[in-house]
Amino acid sequence: MTDDVKPSFTPRFTIAIDGPAAAGKGTLSRQIAHVYGFHHLDTGLTYRATAKALLDAGLPLNDESVAEKVAQTLDLAGLDRDVLSRHEIGEAASKVAVMPAVRRALVEAQRRFALKTPGTVLDGRDIGTVVCPDAPVKLYVTASSEVRARRRYDEIVARGEAADYLSILEDVKRRDERDMGRADSPLKPAADAHLLDTSEMSIEAAFQAAKTYIDAALRTH
Ligand code: C5P
Repeated sequence: MTDDVKPSFTPRFTIAIDGPAAAGKGTLSRQIAHVYGFHHLDTGLTYRATAKALLDAGLPLNDESVAEKVAQTLDLAGLDRDVLSRHEIGEAASKVAVMPAVRRALVEAQRRFALKTPGTVLDGRDIGTVVCPDAPVKLYVTASSEVRARRRYDEIVARGEAADYLSILEDVKRRDERDMGRADSPLKPAADAHLLDTSEMSIEAAFQAAKTYIDAALRTH
């Protein structure tokens, strides 16, 4: 191949999306992956699946070497959002997520995923800071804790279930504290992340803002 012949495929390209629970990053990530034809990994599901496997086997959530073994054998192809979305599993996930050995095992699997062509979207808490620090596009999606609690509340009520707004707000704040306060890979925006505050922004407006950053980065990739 001569130097001026470009490959006919898009070289791989990673979009890193971080932010706290219920900020809208899942919906945004799926939409971006769909529009650009990229593979998507919700890395929260990897922590949830690890926690669920421990709970199902009656194993403790605070034994790092047991949790590490479970994390090492996780099959990313088998992650099922419907099965893993329960609130208790999210709580348990944020407990196993403080363990460095668990994070090491899951980050390795996430980095392998990020090699897929033509590109990937990974969303989580530490994608732009730890998992893919060289990603050409980093987004930090956030919203006030009240808005996030209200979204969770509305989702639960829409499913026909009972919900208590104040206890959901407490949960949101507790989870933020655990995710932002842990020593290993705390939730925080990467220095070069674009901030998207969705408190008063529709998902479409958030997508349009993200698209501007992604298209600019694709032009120079
Ligand atoms: O995003 P989701 O609520 O599914 O994540 C569940 C938990 O997994 C989070 O509260 C967080 O503690 C942990 N997590 C993490 N790093 C990621 C993704 C999720 O620590 N990249």
